[in-house]
Amino acid sequence: MIKKPGSQTELKKNVLEQSLCTGCGACVGLCPYQVFYADRTVQLFDCDLPEGKCWAFCPRTPADYDHIKKSLFNMDDLTPEIGAVKGYYFSRAFDPRLRVNVQHGGTVTALLELAMGEGMIDSAVVSSRNEEFEQHGLLVTDQNQLRGYSKSWFTVSPTVAAFNRIPDDRKKRAGVVATPCQATALAKMKTAEIPGYNGSDLPGLVIGLFCGWTLSMEKFYNLLGRYGLSITDLTGMDIPAGKNILELFTAGGLISVPMAEVDHCVRTACRYCMDSTAEFADLSVGAARFGKDCEEMRGWNQIIVRSDRGKHLFELAVAKHVLQIREAPPSALLELKNAAVEKKKKALKNIVEKSHSTKNLLYLKSDDPVVRKYLGVEKKRKGKL
Ligand SMILES: Cc1cc2nc3c(=O)[nH]c(=O)nc-3n(C[C@H](O)[C@H](O)[C@H](O)COP(=O)(O)OP(=O)(O)OC[C@H]3O[C@@H](n4cnc5c(N)ncnc54)[C@H](O)[C@@H]3O)c2cc1C
Ligand code: SF4
Ligand code: SF4
Repeated sequence: MIKKPGSQTELKKNVLEQSLCTGCGACVGLCPYQVFYADRTVQLFDCDLPEGKCWAFCPRTPADYDHIKKSLFNMDDLTPEIGAVKGYYFSRAFDPRLRVNVQHGGTVTALLELAMGEGMIDSAVVSSRNEEFEQHGLLVTDQNQLRGYSKSWFTVSPTVAAFNRIPDDRKKRAGVVATPCQATALAKMKTAEIPGYNGSDLPGLVIGLFCGWTLSMEKFYNLLGRYGLSITDLTGMDIPAGKNILELFTAGGLISVPMAEVDHCVRTACRYCMDSTAEFADLSVGAARFGKDCEEMRGWNQIIVRSDRGKHLFELAVAKHVLQIREAPPSALLELKNAAVEKKKKALKNIVEKSHSTKNLLYLKSDDPVVRKYLGVEKKRKGKL
């Protein structure tokens, strides 16, 4: 249920000009006026329509996010910390050849290959990079090509724009790899109430990525320069939990950059983001590198199974030996939930600091149960000011 329809002008005023744009790409490709340049969404011309899909789909416009969650997932599975949980495991691709060139355990790529191979989807939107290392969404229709687009790059990829370019009759047969903000946009597409529009079966599958933040390209490239590196020197990147470093892999070896130096490169919009586990995805995948087993778990993922569709794919992956599974101890789930709550509280604190009011939460509703639960701390803090 969309709270209030809005226009492209309002999108500009309330999202782009407020540094709330996540760069998800959901407003790009719907009309010729909105484009993506480098790592920014740009409005080329003004549109005079009073209501736009760009506003309706944007993950940073107000909506009843609690209602959307309840309409997409089983109520009994919902948790305040990380959304719906049907199952939680450690996983990695069974195929050792696949695991050679992936971010952690290759769970995402293995699941996409299986979903395509089994005919659950007939295409997948992943992230690709051009010669300048700018990322963009790419529609892959050949299962054998998916391994060419693995690994994580911590700059923005306007992936949802590539989903928008798929012909309408093929969208429900597509899978999308999505960060939390992108998965939110796709959930808004599914549930938007717009006359003459029906998104209920879009897209066929969403595989979410855990996400702490993304980096501003310009600032990150400057930081690399201080280490005598250019972006083309990087063969990989990672953020091991709890270590407060960004790892840069190069042909010359590993360089660990303290987070204190990276912090100013984090995109402003990410500071207002409550979701670290892609709560609107069918399945969500992240690193399992935390705690005392950090190094041993380098090649493994954490996976949250959320929807019936996600459960079906996960069970198939286990039965067909596509994924190797380890039971995750309850302490791991607790650690994940604690980290997710920290992100929610930090985002709410930043939102209140920006709006100067606990009643104006920008794109969030103050009576949303999850917001209410974690805003309590902020209200008390404000009361003391
Ligand atoms: C911006 C960003 C921040 C992240 N932050 C965290 C974090 O804080 N904690 C954590 O546990 N995990 C985080 N992850 C997820 C993690 O890096 C891995 O993507 C995840 O563990 C899956 O690993 P894998 O080996 O299964 O992935 P692979 O099998 O290697 O597949 C990775 C998939 O991600 C896609 N992709 C790469 N970059 C992007 C992008 N920028 N936007 C959208 N899709 C992309 C690729 O095209 C590929 O399909 C983050 C990922 C991204 C992209
Ligand atoms: S839809 Fe995505 S890219 Fe467009 S304004 Fe909103 S956050 Fe930015
Ligand atoms: S931190 Fe949030 S807003 Fe930023 S890229 Fe990740 S999901 Fe999107």
